[in-house]
Amino acid sequence: MSAAESRDPLAWLEQLFLAHPSRVFLKTLAGQVIRYDELDIESRRMAAALTSLGVKSGDRVTVQVEKSPQVIFLYIACLRLGAIFMPLNTAYTDPELAYFISDAEPRVVLVVPEREQTISSLCDSLSFTKGQRPTVLSIDTATAGSFADRVAQHLIDPRSLSCFAPLASNDVAALVYTSGTTGRSKGAMLTRANLAANSRNLVKAWAFTTNDVLLHALPVFHVHGLFIGVDTVLASGSTLLFLPKFEVEAVLHALPQSSVMMGVPSFYTRLLGDSRLHRKIVTGLRLFISGSAPLLPQTHRDFEARTGHCILERYGMTETLINSSNPYEGLRRPGSVGRPLPDIEIRIVDPENGCTLVAQKAIGLIEVKGANVFAGYWRAIEKTTASFRPDGFFITGDLGYLDADGYLYIVGRDKDLIITGGFNVYPIEIEEAINTLPGVVESAVIGLPHSDFGEGVVAIVVALGVAQGGSSLTEQAILGALGSRIAKFKLPKRVLFADDLPRNAMGKVQKQQLRNLHACVFTRSRSE
Ligand code: AMP
Repeated sequence: MSAAESRDPLAWLEQLFLAHPSRVFLKTLAGQVIRYDELDIESRRMAAALTSLGVKSGDRVTVQVEKSPQVIFLYIACLRLGAIFMPLNTAYTDPELAYFISDAEPRVVLVVPEREQTISSLCDSLSFTKGQRPTVLSIDTATAGSFADRVAQHLIDPRSLSCFAPLASNDVAALVYTSGTTGRSKGAMLTRANLAANSRNLVKAWAFTTNDVLLHALPVFHVHGLFIGVDTVLASGSTLLFLPKFEVEAVLHALPQSSVMMGVPSFYTRLLGDSRLHRKIVTGLRLFISGSAPLLPQTHRDFEARTGHCILERYGMTETLINSSNPYEGLRRPGSVGRPLPDIEIRIVDPENGCTLVAQKAIGLIEVKGANVFAGYWRAIEKTTASFRPDGFFITGDLGYLDADGYLYIVGRDKDLIITGGFNVYPIEIEEAINTLPGVVESAVIGLPHSDFGEGVVAIVVALGVAQGGSSLTEQAILGALGSRIAKFKLPKRVLFADDLPRNAMGKVQKQQLRNLHACVFTRSRSE
């Protein structure tokens, strides 16, 4: 590590712009090309515009805009100034935004032009601790909007030095709100050291070089698209093939121009649903990566059979970025999220007492320690303290086990564990058994309040259509088929059918929504 990096672990960014000015940083299917020297200039212009609005190191910049190269310029602009980049899901509504703005108290809020007026009025109605109401401006996917107009006023001399503020490892670089499945969303503070450690690890683990072209169809408001996707490209000086969102048609078009694709499992299942996905179209690719939600072993196998590529599955989260990965070279195990990345420790702890390490292959709480682990939750000291062990391990809230070779398997979230009649039931075991039955597309297993058992196991099943033979599936047929495979206490007490499962933007099944929707399944049937 150079002397500059020991102060600011992201100092390499400046070198990157100087070292590869004419290399392509980002291109689109429509033919837009942005070189690294252009990224340098555009992000400096944005930094200058933010400075003119009073943004200083440590100030939050909230960004809720559609995916576009402008978001990346803004992100780099914040890194330059030491301002805290705070991306928000574009789906958040005004009341949700009110919460995030009150909690983070940003200096500037950037939204799409259509929402500028509303969000500005919303800020008038909120109170801020130092009375400092944020400035609300707008930017869209092109170069329109009141913030874009401001940026246009800042002409930067390309020969002037690209200023980075003097910054340190522990300075917070980004505030990313968790998806809030366990209560109110919390802001995870990611430091410059976290981002640097993560991207350095990923470049090595996935063998990124300057020759790579990453097919990028993920949102950039989430850690997956931004710190796993964009940062790995920056840290390797490679190229982004930037798609506004995932669409099978566009991705099939982009694949022959790419060398690596990153995605959530539903990208892969949707590609598999199209017969144009075949070996020829992926000959130029060297790697497919999946994460953010479990990749079904069947999808892994189907993708390999169709394309010859073994998808590399990895495990990460907002608070820790990437913890473990299947190997680039070596065995990629379907159903496993691989081994810990260098300098990251993963241990499995007994959920009952929170301290004893469990035996190999036994299921417990996954805990993580390393330079990748965040600094804590924004203005939530109690929540932060409760999330760490005294020896510095972060309690992920995921349940899993390690096999004899140190490969990690995730079996679900701690809160999704079902305790029925005093017995633990891990939903994934039942889901896997149901998913193998003919006519089943997918399933989600949840625990619902039950007067005798505490919780009763319920399966929500998505069946194939009539034409594909799914119509004969009934509750009785599923229970009959499962009866010989899994212990009686784990058997669902009810099987319900649905057209699809509720998912968030990253493809994660929203079990809390299912629990709310079906909360009265047992209580209702008793009173009827
Ligand atoms: P988020 O903070 O939105 O990135 O969500 C992180 C959570 O996603 C983790 O705590 C896991 O529960 C889940 N997750 C991420 N990657 C995987 C994976 N490869 N397999 C299963 N679950 C995953």
